[in-house]
Parts: sequence; C-alpha cells; structure tokens
Amino acid sequence: MSDFEIPALLDRVFDRSEVSGDTRALLTTPIRALRVTIPLRRDDGTLDAYPAWRVQYDTTLGPGKGGVRFHPAVCGAEVTGLSFWMTLKCALLDLPFGGAKGGIQVDPKALSPLEVERLARGYVAAVADLIGPDRDIPAPDVNTNPRIMGWMADEYSKIARSHQPAAMTGKPYELGGCEARMTATGRGALIVLQEWIARQGKRPEDITIAVQGFGSAGGNFACLAHEAGFRIVAVSDSKAAIRDPEGIDPVPIFACKQAEKEEGDMLYCSSSVADQDGQEEIAQDDLLKLDVDVLALAAMEDAVTKANVGDIKAPLIVELANGPVSAEADETLTRRDHTLLPGVLVNAGGVTVSYYEWMQSRSGAHWDAETVEARLKSRMVDAATRVFERMDEEDVPAREAAYSLAVERIARAVKSRGDRSYFAG
Ligand code: GLU
Repeated sequence: MSDFEIPALLDRVFDRSEVSGDTRALLTTPIRALRVTIPLRRDDGTLDAYPAWRVQYDTTLGPGKGGVRFHPAVCGAEVTGLSFWMTLKCALLDLPFGGAKGGIQVDPKALSPLEVERLARGYVAAVADLIGPDRDIPAPDVNTNPRIMGWMADEYSKIARSHQPAAMTGKPYELGGCEARMTATGRGALIVLQEWIARQGKRPEDITIAVQGFGSAGGNFACLAHEAGFRIVAVSDSKAAIRDPEGIDPVPIFACKQAEKEEGDMLYCSSSVADQDGQEEIAQDDLLKLDVDVLALAAMEDAVTKANVGDIKAPLIVELANGPVSAEADETLTRRDHTLLPGVLVNAGGVTVSYYEWMQSRSGAHWDAETVEARLKSRMVDAATRVFERMDEEDVPAREAAYSLAVERIARAVKSRGDRSYFAG
C-alpha cells in the first residue's frame, strides 16, 4: 500500500484549482486500509492462504463504494490506486459515496466453484468490521460476478444476523439485484461515446471500433455499440483476438460465451472470441495497433504503456477498464493530439447502477429496466456534458477536466464542514 502515490496529474489539478489545502491533505493517502489473509480449505483437504485487501480511500461524500477483484496481480498498491479512482468516479457522478476497493491475490480460475464460494465468504468474514450498507459497499470487479456477490451478501447477512441486501451490489436479481446492472458499465460507456461523437458532428455509421476485453464491460459495450450503428472491427479477450474490417457482429459471440457459463453452471468461461468460424484471428497485442477511429480498452490496467504507445493509431481512446493507459503513455498520446476519455467518466455506469441497486435494497423497491436505463442515461449525459464543457472552457484534456470536477465536488463538502480558512479565522 505504501508505494501508492497520487498521480502527478492530480497535483497539477490541485495547483491550478482553488480547492483548499484541506482537500489536498485528505486526498493524498487512503483514510482506511486493511490487509488480511484469507485461509482457504481446498477440495482436496489442503489449506491455502491468500493475501487480500480492502481500502477506503476517501469517505467525505458517503460510505466507501467499489468492487472486489480476484486476480493473481492484485496487490496493496493496485487496490489503493483503484480505490482512489473510485473516489473520483463517485464524486464526478455526484453519487453519495466515497471511494473504496478490495481484492484477493488469487487465480480464481484455478479453483473449483465451491472453493471460490468459500474464498468469497472468507473475504467477507475478514473485512466485515469495515464494510456494511452505511460504511462501505463492495461490488463486482475483475473476476467477480453476481453469483459471487450473492454469496458475499449472504455471508454479510449471517455475520450481521439480519437481512442485509444493501451491503453488496451487483447481486443476482433473485437476491435483490438491480435490473440492467450487468449491462450498465458498457451502456454507460456507449452513452459517453455517443455524446462525444455528436459534439464532433459525426455519426456512428462512420466510426470503426476495436475493443480490447470482452467481459462484462467490453462485451456489453461491443454489443450495444454494434446495435447503435457503430462498426466493431476487432475484439479480444484474455485468450485471443479477431478482426474483420467489414464489421463483426459481437452479439452471437457474447451470447455464446454467456450460454457456455449458464449451461455449464460455471463461474468463468473457458471459450474465447476466436471459437466461432469465419473470423480472422490476430495477435492480441496487434488489436491495439489497428488503424481504427476508436480504441476501447476494457481489459486491465496498463494495456498501453510507454513500451507500446508508439504503435497506437486510434485518434480516440475510451477507457472502460480502470487505468488502462499509464500516466506516461497518456502524456505521450495527449501530446500527439489523441483524445482520451478517462475511466472515471467512461466506466462510471457500473457504480451508478450500483447506487440504484443500493437504494432499492434499502427501501425494498423494485425499478424496472426502463427506469434504471433512463436514470443511468440522464446521469451519464450530465457528467459527460460537464466534462466536455470544462475541456472547452479551460482548454484541458478530458482526464484533467474530470479530475478537477471530482476534486471540486469533494472540496465543496470539505468546505461545508469548515475548512482551514474558517478555523484560522
Ligand atoms: N468495479 C466497478 C468499478 O470499478 C463497479 C463498482 C461498484 O459498482 O461499486 O467501477
């Protein structure tokens, strides 16, 4: 955790903006961080132990909010960085949440479903004192899905000895999940892209997109963008990449991966985007180099770094993942006049619908998919409009505009409680 440092860009935002030093002091390090070990009894009787974290970066605007990821590369610095982005994301979208994140350093695909269940329950038991509907509300992230969130909600309710559906979001519908939560990140990203191209006077039909990552965010984004008239010319997942300059219909490919999971009652897919006939397979890294209008990054952090930034041709990069472009690569691309739409805006649809789920779980209400989608749209359009207007007003890149708006939102809350000008006076 100690090797996390706030991005240099945030320092620049603080230097330029008029937010008080109190906000800068608060946002420099996480407010609360827990490192635990999760013991797991394997099916063969042996005991494994996995390092795990829950970090609440800032809770000025409300309880912590953010996903839990299961991945071999999870470490304290990564979880802290992700919790920092959640803080900015929730503030930018004006949600009543602070930012948090959790993770277990594990390859869940090497575990049986029952082992994953024990691990998920073990995680909740280990962080139970920190989380809860009014403290910090976990959600899905990389390799965590509704079924896992259902186990986590159930475990939290057992520990609390009361029904606590609002303790987790991204649950299955049958356990109080929200309509349209599964598609929310992809849908939100599409809304931001549509707003952006409309401002440039372009039409979806004229735009080609390559999508790196075909999970919940990238897969749904590709399908919805295809349905909205954009041309998807390449997609990749963790196993393969395919390309067709005439256009790929991602809907049957995504449906096939989903069906595989459902039919096999599996937590993770074993198939890949290249399993269908008739598509040209390319190297995964080559997808990033394609001469397309939009490169949608929906896989992991640091997909584009100084090592491969020279190969990027797409003039517009949209971040569906958190932090897929390293800070150095971002500077290079900005200098070369590429536009980067940042994750804190583009992928905020997921946490926005998590907020709607939390509201429903607390009140017992049920909103239909149309209502959820309409509310998601108006909130995403509002946030995108504010970011784009700030870019024009201050002649700054989208990331800087988004960070400024988020920090100012937090600063207004800090100031309302009395900041140093009040106490010094
Ligand atoms: N893991 C998602 C994100 O990074 C969703 C978080 C949430 O729904 O709380 O935004």
